[in-house]
Amino acid sequence: MMTRKFALLAPLVLALPTPAFAGLSGIEQTLVTQADTDTPLAIGLLERLVAQNSGTRNIAGVKKVRDLVEPELAALGFATRWVPMDAVHRAGHLIATHKGRPGTTRMLLIGHLDTVFEPASPFQTATREGDILHGPGASDDKGGVVVMIAALRAMKTVGTLAHANIEVVLTGDEEAAGDPISVSRADLIEAAHHADVALDFEGLSVQNGQDYGSIARRSAGSYTITATGKSSHSGQIFAPGVGDGAVYELARIITAFHDQLPEPDLTFNIGLMAGGATVTMAPDEAQIGATGKTNIVPPIAMASGDFRALTESQIDRVKDRMIAIVARHLPQTDAQIVFHEAYPPMAPTPGNQALLDRLNAINTDLNLPVMPALDPLKRGAGDISFVARYVDGLVGLGPSSRGDHTPEERVDLSSFPRQIKRAALLMTRLSKETSRH
Ligand SMILES: [Zn+2]
Repeated sequence: MMTRKFALLAPLVLALPTPAFAGLSGIEQTLVTQADTDTPLAIGLLERLVAQNSGTRNIAGVKKVRDLVEPELAALGFATRWVPMDAVHRAGHLIATHKGRPGTTRMLLIGHLDTVFEPASPFQTATREGDILHGPGASDDKGGVVVMIAALRAMKTVGTLAHANIEVVLTGDEEAAGDPISVSRADLIEAAHHADVALDFEGLSVQNGQDYGSIARRSAGSYTITATGKSSHSGQIFAPGVGDGAVYELARIITAFHDQLPEPDLTFNIGLMAGGATVTMAPDEAQIGATGKTNIVPPIAMASGDFRALTESQIDRVKDRMIAIVARHLPQTDAQIVFHEAYPPMAPTPGNQALLDRLNAINTDLNLPVMPALDPLKRGAGDISFVARYVDGLVGLGPSSRGDHTPEERVDLSSFPRQIKRAALLMTRLSKETSRH
């Protein structure tokens, strides 16, 4: 009886192998296998990239990383070009274009070649600790660039890259963008104008073992408040004609910010403050100093801090409230506030959510848990912020890590196959959708 049953079942099993992932097409299954096969090659590339210092201001180092990355993309059929950024004292950007089937979704892949670790940093070499690579830029963003290349290579191998319209922009100054932004981000923004979606290969957010998708990032900017008052002997403070002095005026403004401005998704820090007979603030707002005497009503006080919000309308509304608070003035004082923009916000739009939904369909097909949207307060601004107003975007296609931007930067190598698969499947599926261009 048993023998007979086996005899009947065996040919059936051979003819119809149970798929590992029922939701994936045949070619997608091959893609998943290919991503696993490719992972050791990807880790090898990562180790070569991390061994080359590419601090943002190490122009030669950033170009050497470009020299390692460019042939990888060229080998996959991308047309590559280098956009020098000498005008803003940065290395430049590597742009690579792959033409697929006309009329299908145009994807912009974003990553960066530079790191925060300049040649003067003591953190220069990588150490392998089992499934962890401890090294400068091992995650941010060399790990991300490697996931991107490995996903594209898997697509090339199984044949799904051929149909995909992809533009890769790897900036050389993500960690300290060249000034002015209108020059240093012009090529990235130009690429976004003819893209349907932007995929940002920075680190995957993992919290308590749960992977998160990132569809929003707050803006990052700073502001300086300058208060002035009438200098006089301290014995005359608050008297008519003398007034309250610059320090009380500045304290009034800061207290009013603290008491009146708080709302969800908004933060406004005061990072530096000084007041007295004279105040000097360094142009980069990294240093402040004052002189004065305890018995002089201070004629000047300054403070500066940063300001982060989730949407353009929130920024405009809060700025108006700040300006109104600053304009009230204590007796015989004056004050003004100046805003310095750095990164615009990436607001949580329905288009961004739809991209995360596509990724979650893939997670389901891979038997992986659904990835919730990350709280935008848990993620700082990045290059995708510059294009968020033009194109739908998803952040966090790179590997998982901890300690980024510190000598404790450690990337989790076991997250590579998972991220390579997600990226390769997402790009393969997007390549079958229709472009709005
Ligand atoms: Zn970074």
